[in-house]
Amino acid sequence: MPAVSLYAEGEEAMLALGARLATLTEGQGIIYLHGDLGAGKTTLSRGIVRGFGHVGAVKSPTFTLVEPYELGDKRIFHFDLYRLADPEELEFLGIRDYFDGASLCLIEWPQRGAGVLPKADLDITISPQESGRALLLQPHSARAEAWCTALCA
Ligand code: ADP
Ligand code: MG
Repeated sequence: MPAVSLYAEGEEAMLALGARLATLTEGQGIIYLHGDLGAGKTTLSRGIVRGFGHVGAVKSPTFTLVEPYELGDKRIFHFDLYRLADPEELEFLGIRDYFDGASLCLIEWPQRGAGVLPKADLDITISPQESGRALLLQPHSARAEAWCTALCA
């Protein structure tokens, strides 16, 4: 399936897109978030986490590398690997437990964990465009293709 292009004009549109994606995933899968600092990776992650009912803040876990959320029977792990010096460090976080297939993992700066992170269902690349953000969604699994198809509909 070819990549899907979307456009979000403003932060609220980004949060709404995240909430739709949350519903589609049903809380399972691995999503890589690409884009420069300030692209909107954390904003989209916030929309996803809030989509599962979280009401508090959702910040980039820059220093702790990962922030877990338990929302009802869903488990979401939000990673920001910007400060990861070596992919091997991920082993010390006990990441195997996070990627057990029963959780949703959102990963900012996944390239820093190359070789240790499991493969993504979906790559999302965000880039500033005019006053909003262009998003390119590239699915790598049947379930991610279904999410993309639903998002374009
Ligand atoms: P990142 O995690 O990629 O570094 P952030 O999610 O922290 O980026 O967002 C940086 C800024 O971009 C924030 O001020 C946010 O309000 C803004 N932003 C996010 N999404 C959009 C959008 N779709 N349109 C316009 N501004 C956005
Ligand atoms: Mg961020």
